[in-house]
Amino acid sequence: MNALRDSRQEQADSSPASPIVRAEALTKQVATPDHELTILKAATFEVRAGEAVAILGPSGSGKSTLLGLLAGLDSPSSGSVRIGGQDLFSLSEDGRAKLRGQMVGFVFQSFQLMPALTALENVMLPLELAGGAGARARARAVLERVGLAERLGHYPRQLSGGEQQRVALARAFVTRPAVLFADEPTGNLDTTTGQAIVELLFKLNRDSGTTLVLVTHDERLAARCGRILRLDGGRLVTA
Ligand code: ADP
Ligand code: MG
Repeated sequence: MNALRDSRQEQADSSPASPIVRAEALTKQVATPDHELTILKAATFEVRAGEAVAILGPSGSGKSTLLGLLAGLDSPSSGSVRIGGQDLFSLSEDGRAKLRGQMVGFVFQSFQLMPALTALENVMLPLELAGGAGARARARAVLERVGLAERLGHYPRQLSGGEQQRVALARAFVTRPAVLFADEPTGNLDTTTGQAIVELLFKLNRDSGTTLVLVTHDERLAARCGRILRLDGGRLVTA
């Protein structure tokens, strides 16, 4: 009985040193016409709450595959992912979606906004899915923080790439996620706009105390994170 209570206590403990993300022997294989291709091989690592970690590797090394698995957007061939102590792939599809909604934010290279929704509606969406109150006011406040107070009613096609990525950042942070996954968030932007997005990303991350897992092929961007995990040909290589 005491042991049970103690283990629950440990799970509830969100001290800064506890792992918020844990990948264990994470492997992804895909079928090609003549053989099974292993695009991620036995990745094992953990990310502690509050850390900023870069996943660095050349194009095709498996970065997006790994990030998609960590965020529960895709399922592995074998291995496991724990987010906040919960095993993502032992949950039902609904359970996984719920955990994702509560704990995870995601920013993509290609923005991935809903084209038929305004900036404000895009940012409100995750709050509405989670059933929280005050979605409109909270979404507006975050859009103001990313400098888009004058663009609330714009549709994605009416916004520049940099503005669209600001909306995507607002959407990712509005639920106050424990972990933010960002997949080459500046990959579709020119250098100056990309730098502004990076500054904003790190600022939002610092201000909200979010754990950051950032995928990039840019050494200099990776160096801004506290730790770098290197991927090469689907394998994590130790520095
Ligand atoms: P990165 O993000 O580092 O550029 P990806 O994770 O997108 O790399 O892809 C890693 C490798 O796996 C690439 O060679 C890519 O072509 C391949 N790949 C990714 N997804 C699939 C898939 N669904 N089917 C076949 N090959 C894939
Ligand atoms: Mg990629």
